[in-house]
Amino acid sequence: MAVSKQHDERSEAGIPGPRRQCAGCAIRDSADLLVRVVLGPREARLDSEPSACLAVDLADSRFGRGSHVHASTACVQRALRGGFSKVFKCKVEGSLESFSTQMTEAAERRIDGLLAGARRAKQAIAGADVVRAAYRDGSAVLLVVACDAAAASKLPEVHDAVGLGRAVVFGNKQRLGAIFGRDEVAVCAVLHEGVAKAIGSARSMALPFAGARSEAWWSSEDR
Ligand SMILES: [Zn+2]
Repeated sequence: MAVSKQHDERSEAGIPGPRRQCAGCAIRDSADLLVRVVLGPREARLDSEPSACLAVDLADSRFGRGSHVHASTACVQRALRGGFSKVFKCKVEGSLESFSTQMTEAAERRIDGLLAGARRAKQAIAGADVVRAAYRDGSAVLLVVACDAAAASKLPEVHDAVGLGRAVVFGNKQRLGAIFGRDEVAVCAVLHEGVAKAIGSARSMALPFAGARSEAWWSSEDR
């Protein structure tokens, strides 16, 4: 049996939801594993044909024609060498470096937005005491810990959540604080399954691209 056929069968059988083709490796896969990119503004140039820049669309909300690519540096590099230009039918300019920066920044904005929305809907709570209580009674789906929250990271509930893959580090105390309208927040809990899943997805999509920027990705001190 051909390898590609095996892959298709696995995808059809095992992956629910819409499937998209990767502009890098050309494999059709679950849309959840692929990053959507759209075209930024086109720049007319005197010396060559018009070219366009890519914009990462993690929230899947921008209008216009989109292309998809696996959240892997190998697929992005392949797509930049021609896959994106083919899909968009125009010359697409971009480097892995600028794509990586866009990915991590888009993930940060997406997670900020998800937490802020959850907070307004009373689906995210902040502060060590309420978070610990929510974790113990099972209502906390995901804990989000600031990268500079040394004391909070030693809490038994946080330690337990990390072990179970139910905690992520994101931003610093100031950044989390801004989301909750406080000076600082060391740890918060997401109570909504869908929001927790979306945060995890934005984070795992961005991680392969964080590279040398990973410190900045966890922390927003430099921004
Ligand atoms: Zn791919």
